Amino acid sequence: MNVTHLECALCGLRHEARVLQNLCIECGKPLLVRYDLEAAAQTLTADSLKDREASLWRYREVLPVDDWTNVVSFGEGWTPLLNANKLAEDLDISINLLIKDESQNPTQSFKARGMTAAISMAKEFGVQKVAVPSAGNAAGAMAAYAARAGMEAHIFMPADTPKANVVECQQTGANVTLIDGLITDCGKIVAERKKDEGWFDVSTLKEPYRVEGKKTMGYELAEQLAVPVGSGSGNHSANRQQPTAYTLPDVIIYPTGGGTGLIGMWKAFDEMQQMGWIDSKRPRMITVQSSTCAPIVRAFENGERFADEFENASTVASGLRVPKAIGDFLILDAIRASGGTAIAVTDEELMAAVAEIGAATGIFAAPEGAACLPALRKLIAAGQISSGETVVLFNTGSGIKYMEVFE
Ligand SMILES: *Cc1c(COP(=O)(O)O)cnc(C)c1O
Repeated sequence: MNVTHLECALCGLRHEARVLQNLCIECGKPLLVRYDLEAAAQTLTADSLKDREASLWRYREVLPVDDWTNVVSFGEGWTPLLNANKLAEDLDISINLLIKDESQNPTQSFKARGMTAAISMAKEFGVQKVAVPSAGNAAGAMAAYAARAGMEAHIFMPADTPKANVVECQQTGANVTLIDGLITDCGKIVAERKKDEGWFDVSTLKEPYRVEGKKTMGYELAEQLAVPVGSGSGNHSANRQQPTAYTLPDVIIYPTGGGTGLIGMWKAFDEMQQMGWIDSKRPRMITVQSSTCAPIVRAFENGERFADEFENASTVASGLRVPKAIGDFLILDAIRASGGTAIAVTDEELMAAVAEIGAATGIFAAPEGAACLPALRKLIAAGQISSGETVVLFNTGSGIKYMEVFE
């Protein structure tokens, strides 16, 4: 295991790695896992990766688990990066358009990535009861991984969360409480009760490991876009011993709620650079939110580093209904450092995009994932994407969980 310590993302305070922790003991901000990347790079090589399992646990050198019998897994991650050529034909410029299809994860969303890491680590630390506030998909994933780990799961969700998310939690043995409020209200209840109840709080970015699971999307992009150096024949066995040139897309469009995936990928790029996989060039990171819950877009436009709570937040894209994110500064820092931006689209625009993406690609996208398409169009109209660029849209979940919003 290459973990050296945990580090506060804001004040930099060092924390012990082999202890169960939530937030920075000084400033209450998220803790990030730090690794000995020189050691990791010794064995995490293009050549070794060729023979590894088709799950995110292929990146074991940069994941936090110590004893591998603690890994709680359904085989998550290593999702396909699909071309969207037909969808690209309808755009005003010619680009290489790809969709990272996260709907193919266990429990049908990329929340599985975060939960496999968080629940594995909870198991490693001997946790028996876990609790989470969720806008929907995090709950379904948490319930599934907790059941698999033999842990008691306590889930708090807004009463108007998609029914599929409520039912899947109940059917996988979780204790579900529906709250008349938003995810932030659910979070307050978990925070108030966890000490007395003996729950470990797995709210995103309030524990250090969900972001580690989600960062693997960054590693996967590099591997899936890699070109074998000196290739041309397309003969993989002939290239086996040759160096691989990892590349990243020019633009990543990401539907942002808590921002865990965006923050995670940004961290992964930094790690990959330190391990010599890539140079300092980064994709432009684009946050997409619904115009009726757009705290990050508003803070970006106002030049702020921290985002105020978005009042009266509402959107059919339940995963984006996060009025206040604890990792706001990490999202905004990454967007700005990458030369990216933050864009709001309306619920009408993102719902129309579900059918459009579906018809052109066969992917039944979650409303959150579909939001990437109108955002892409706005970027192109504003001249912020050039022809020939490679653009990755993140379809973060499956539309199948959202039956109500298609009625
Ligand atoms: C949770 C969720 C999001 C937002 O993800 P973050 O990484 O927390 O910003 C987007 N789409 C879907 C389908 C989700 O479940």
